[in-house]
Amino acid sequence: CGIVGYIGGQPAAPILVEGLARLEYRGYDSAGIGVLTSGKPKVLRTVGRVRDLEASLPKRLTGTVGIGHTRWATHGPASEENAHPHASADGRILLVHNGILDNATALRERLTAEGVTLHSDTDTEVLAHLVAAAEGDSLEEQVLAALRQVTGTYAIAVASADQPDRVVVARNGSPLVLGIGEHEMFVASDVAALVRHTSQVVHLDEGELATVTRDGFHTFTADATSTTKTPETIDVEA
Ligand code: GLU
Repeated sequence: CGIVGYIGGQPAAPILVEGLARLEYRGYDSAGIGVLTSGKPKVLRTVGRVRDLEASLPKRLTGTVGIGHTRWATHGPASEENAHPHASADGRILLVHNGILDNATALRERLTAEGVTLHSDTDTEVLAHLVAAAEGDSLEEQVLAALRQVTGTYAIAVASADQPDRVVVARNGSPLVLGIGEHEMFVASDVAALVRHTSQVVHLDEGELATVTRDGFHTFTADATSTTKTPETIDVEA
């Protein structure tokens, strides 16, 4: 339903939670954030409201890269296990997803046959495992390889503890926008989550992907061809 992402110099968690609060008007049944830390990434999820998530934030969650999600369940009930982010088996890859993967059942069966234990009922979780299993020198290549195996609609944001200098996003049938800051970048499914932070945004086109780093962004297509984007200026509230 709603996606946010952050990479920069500030603690990510409060920024993610505040962004999710700005997407609450779209409706949701559960919410969660995932933040890269010096150890294992930290995931916090709740069936409650975004403010419950805020209340549960550990004080020392200071990681400066993270992703967040408000879920409107399509596959499996509203539960903490089904809330996003979903993680790879080793917990090092985190992924949030809006939309519906059509071939999730077949992929779940394949992953199970390969010995992967799935922890949720969602279509989304398969993608976290596929990214982790994908060959590739970069998170972008892993995401592209994973997306080649799925059909359906998605906007996704992916963070990896092994490549903590970036967040990778992809759009196919569900909107995504990048927000440009000063040595920080934002990601959201809706500009409402960005207006507090920046007036410079880039809307991804259908089929487009992007890498965001602290110092900027790079957009590309499914065949890894770079695309050129011109940032737009939006009205920002005081
Ligand atoms: N299909 C996913 C799920 O059921 C994502 C739903 C959404 O767009 O929030 O978890």
